Amino acid sequence: MGERQADDTLRVHLLPKIMRSITLGEMKSSSSNKKRIGVHLGTAGGCWTAVNRAVEAAANTFQIFSSSPRMWRPSRIKPEDANKMRELRTRHDIGPVSIHASYLINLCSQTEAVRANSIVAFRGEVERALALGAEYLVLHPGSWKGLTRDEGLRLAAQSIERAIDGLPWQDSPFRILIENTAGAEFSLGSKLEQVAELVECLRPCAPVGVCLDTCHVHVAGYDIVSEDGYTETMLLVRDTVGFESVKVWHCNDAKAAFGSRLDRHEHIGEGTIGPAAFKRLLQDDRFAHCAFIAETPVDAPGDEARNVGVLRTLAAG
Ligand SMILES: [Zn+2]
Ligand SMILES: [Zn+2]
Repeated sequence: MGERQADDTLRVHLLPKIMRSITLGEMKSSSSNKKRIGVHLGTAGGCWTAVNRAVEAAANTFQIFSSSPRMWRPSRIKPEDANKMRELRTRHDIGPVSIHASYLINLCSQTEAVRANSIVAFRGEVERALALGAEYLVLHPGSWKGLTRDEGLRLAAQSIERAIDGLPWQDSPFRILIENTAGAEFSLGSKLEQVAELVECLRPCAPVGVCLDTCHVHVAGYDIVSEDGYTETMLLVRDTVGFESVKVWHCNDAKAAFGSRLDRHEHIGEGTIGPAAFKRLLQDDRFAHCAFIAETPVDAPGDEARNVGVLRTLAAG
């Protein structure tokens, strides 16, 4: 434990310095071929400031909230802030950028008022993502409590279609990524088949893809920890959503047990998933096109950089 702590401290303090000591040219050429590894970051001071935080954390991709995730009141992106973000991303070769949609949004709610608010809020999410030039907008499909699962699925698809109607996404790389969930009662998307079904419903009318979360997969009861379990689970991924559709892996270790349906994220390698599974995933060629983004706890300053460092180390061998 003591040894690991010392090692972690070293990583936190050394990584940004190592990155700074490399000349910008070197960094650009090396990071452009590099696997995309990053972390969810704060945006105090404006969304664009997350790019600087990514550089500090030695991340070459990242995720943010573009508005407060627990408030309905939407925020607007200032054009000068969007420009700053674009400039900084180009300078540091950082991308893709993922935006996580607000937790309040429930596009398959049985309550019409909640659904109507959710559609307006989700439209705002798409508008901000397009304004910022973000590649991905990650969405939890919602809760179908009071309905049947199929009704929930149909409502989610209809709501997304209505939310993006008329928005100019066609000429951008933008995609809505449907994220698999941990399996709380009535939550849509804890089964890979449900994620696949929703994506197929949406494909004709919206730019869609998939975000898979290691913690959610694990607590929903898909084994990615044992070698055989990993093989089997990935065959299921192939046969449901398909490897190509997966654009982002949320890399989170789990505080809760396998199959517990409890969504509590843990630092990479320190939970019930453990480092070997992340190593296998990061080195899996079928996901070479993916961005790997941690949504790990921030218990101490530098935890973002530490988890990125651990993922980078596991990806390397
Ligand atoms: Zn996630
Ligand atoms: Zn989660």
